Amino acid sequence: MHSNDLLQRSLNAVWHPCTQMKHHERFPLIPLERGEGLWLFDTEGRRYFDAVSSWWVNLFGHCNPRINAALQRQLGTLEHAMLAGFTHRPVVELSERLRALTGNALGHAFYASDGASATEIALKMSAHYWRNSGMPGKNRFLSLAGSYHGETAGALSVTDIDLFRDAYAPLVRQSATVPSPASADASTRAQAAHSAAEALDAWLAEHADSTAALIVEPLVQCATGMAMYDAEYLRRARAACDRHRVHLIADEIAVGCGRTGTFFACEQGGIQPDFLCLSKGISGGYLPLSIVLSTDETYRAFYDDATVRGFLHSHSYTGNPLACTAALATLDIFESDKVLATNLERAAALTRAAAPLQQHARIRNFRRTGMIWAFDVDCDDPQLSRKIFAAGLSHEVLLRPIGRTVYWMPPYIFDDADAAFLVQRTGAAIDAALVA
Ligand SMILES: *Cc1c(COP(=O)(O)O)cnc(C)c1O
Repeated sequence: MHSNDLLQRSLNAVWHPCTQMKHHERFPLIPLERGEGLWLFDTEGRRYFDAVSSWWVNLFGHCNPRINAALQRQLGTLEHAMLAGFTHRPVVELSERLRALTGNALGHAFYASDGASATEIALKMSAHYWRNSGMPGKNRFLSLAGSYHGETAGALSVTDIDLFRDAYAPLVRQSATVPSPASADASTRAQAAHSAAEALDAWLAEHADSTAALIVEPLVQCATGMAMYDAEYLRRARAACDRHRVHLIADEIAVGCGRTGTFFACEQGGIQPDFLCLSKGISGGYLPLSIVLSTDETYRAFYDDATVRGFLHSHSYTGNPLACTAALATLDIFESDKVLATNLERAAALTRAAAPLQQHARIRNFRRTGMIWAFDVDCDDPQLSRKIFAAGLSHEVLLRPIGRTVYWMPPYIFDDADAAFLVQRTGAAIDAALVA
């Protein structure tokens, strides 16, 4: 099909996400033909290095042969069946393996399809736990300044990003926020974690009776602009939640699955949350899948003869066998390729290669946590992020800056040559955008 035709038809029929559609008058859509490894190819044969893992979901490259093969096997066996009253091998195996990855701390897995639904489920489960425990007044939530937990009405209630929230504010029961421990300057992070932990403790001391849970993005608040913080905050937040009897929800939708260096970001604080939300990378970037892991104690508070004490959340595609199979294949790759260990080398190589960018006159706050790199471009142009996106595409790299923050969240498959390419083309795209 001719690509112009595809573009026009898409503009006529598809409402694209997170987009002011009128901007496509100036910044055309890219019609994709196929993907392979780090690369996306458009219908004109141009290629793009997927430096953002297609919105942070892809871990082992596009059209990964091992995940493809696992999905093809499952396709011939069971594509989907309802999970109420039925079960199947992929969902059981995935739940058991995730439990093992938490050191058996989080033994019960509840399934949905998207990250925002995982947030909704964790919030509902937490409030319902307190209700079942005779404390129905504990039904409010707390999040960090700059938090992002998804964009359905319940998830927006714990999201603190004006752009996503303001238009829908009247629909939302807004939660309170406490100061974020994040700091762009790594040398001030210990202090920032300390004062944010003090503020959290003070807030909980006053409001614990009405608070069900604190929800955090462990180590990196990605959507607000890759705001990174010290793992010490997680330890302090866990202690404060325990002291005041409030649940801790770890939203690892973006930072889980090795993105921060450990399989779960919480591991770096040496803590276990009461609820852990996963999505994005868990299916390798193949299929919509999200999971909420919870403790035995939570599970027991719902275990009863009365239906209304059970967790009441019905989603048609709960535990979809294909999505679970993609997740199992993803976990297989983590094990057989010792991905967390190899990523240490990859991270060091890309960081070394990026030295020239760190010296760039217009680049500030170069920072990294695990397999997330970010820096801020010193420029006031409100069009900067769209200009860098466009310049990136003409330099064969998919960058999607958040405001002035440019970041890389690449799939875990790049080698030294790929790292050099990414750095060189990113620098060139930024230089082009700064004069555009
Ligand atoms: C992306 C994201 C979500 C929402 O996931 P969706 O699948 O887009 O609904 C929630 N929390 C965090 C931290 C995220 O990065």
